[in-house]
Amino acid sequence: MSNTKISKDRFASLNDATKLVHGGTIRSEFGETSESLFLTSGYIYDSAESAEARFKGDEDGYIYSRFMNPTIKMFEERMIALEGAEDARATATGMAAVSASVLSYLNAGDHIVSAKALFGSCRYVVETLLPRFGVETTLVDGSDIDAWKAAMKPNTKAVFFETPTNPALELVDMQAVADIAHEAGALVIVDNVFATPYFQKPMEFGADVVCYSATKHIDGQGRCLGGVVLGKQDYIDDYLHDFMRQTGPSISPFNAWVMLKGLETLPLRIEKAASNARKVADFLSEHQKVKRAIYPGREDHPQHELAKRQMKGFGTMVAFEIDGTKEDAFNFMNKLEIISISNNLGDTKSLITHPTTTTHQRLEEEERLELSITPSLIRLSVGIEDSEDLLNDIAEALK
Ligand SMILES: *Cc1c(COP(=O)(O)O)cnc(C)c1O
Repeated sequence: MSNTKISKDRFASLNDATKLVHGGTIRSEFGETSESLFLTSGYIYDSAESAEARFKGDEDGYIYSRFMNPTIKMFEERMIALEGAEDARATATGMAAVSASVLSYLNAGDHIVSAKALFGSCRYVVETLLPRFGVETTLVDGSDIDAWKAAMKPNTKAVFFETPTNPALELVDMQAVADIAHEAGALVIVDNVFATPYFQKPMEFGADVVCYSATKHIDGQGRCLGGVVLGKQDYIDDYLHDFMRQTGPSISPFNAWVMLKGLETLPLRIEKAASNARKVADFLSEHQKVKRAIYPGREDHPQHELAKRQMKGFGTMVAFEIDGTKEDAFNFMNKLEIISISNNLGDTKSLITHPTTTTHQRLEEEERLELSITPSLIRLSVGIEDSEDLLNDIAEALK
């Protein structure tokens, strides 16, 4: 087994797009160009002595794919290079990543502060699951810095948020929240799915742990579920590693291979999708049947200045309100021909969602309105189709 010819120092100086093609490669003695898929659950030892040494930790080498596999390792290493993290563990899904990030770290009697505006299952984990195990949860408006300050307690051990949020694309000031959390001795965990690791690097703004659903932009072609948690070496060694090893929310080597190869084209795909998203947002904001279009890259986004500070690109998601009722929103969605109705996002295909009746159905109406989720709000995950064709599809359906 050998790595690529690129030296460590040279690699560190490379830009993201290059790291995403070459990072983490472990090449076998066959010299393959494309990374190998090691579809194996276990490993053979040369001798009983070697098995003993590996279990004791005295000898390097693979033991069992629940916690180590060469293909999964390549995916983790490539993510580490992109994120600028010290270490990472890949997981079966994005929700396995989020759950592992908090369950591995928190104990009964601890307190977590989280933004209210979360992906539905993330909100279940912090609001419903953690309290069942004696972890106290406080939910705050993520954009209200004073609310974060006021929520801190002596037993606050972690804060959790997404930015931009799903689906209303509100931003959280990462550095400001991280400063408050660190002063209270709390770990800062960010779900960075909406922004993508290419456009936003939460660790540069104080995040300690970053979680992804790789199902979204990292695969980016709607094929496999996967996730990853990235953090500092001591967090991974002291908390996450044993949790993953002993409870087993591991990714399949096949899915890790799909994600690994997905990373190679991530910059191309999301640059194109973000450029399309900007055009779609501009088009919608001028349309008389649209009440408002929300995109962090537009100057009329209330937190555009913050977006410019913490994002290198403004993402592939657009939200907008049809000037009308839920029925008008449904009619519009049903008339689309190129853009498909789906709850997924981050795909090469443009996908449209009605949050009130799908992803956020579980919330009370009052809770939805708090998050700006009105019956006429629509979330659009913009794909890599030709922008003119997308605009035509939207224009026709708005008629
Ligand atoms: C999709 C998503 C998740 C969950 O990921 P899965 O891979 O579906 O388990 C978590 N957070 C955000 C923001 C997401 O969009």
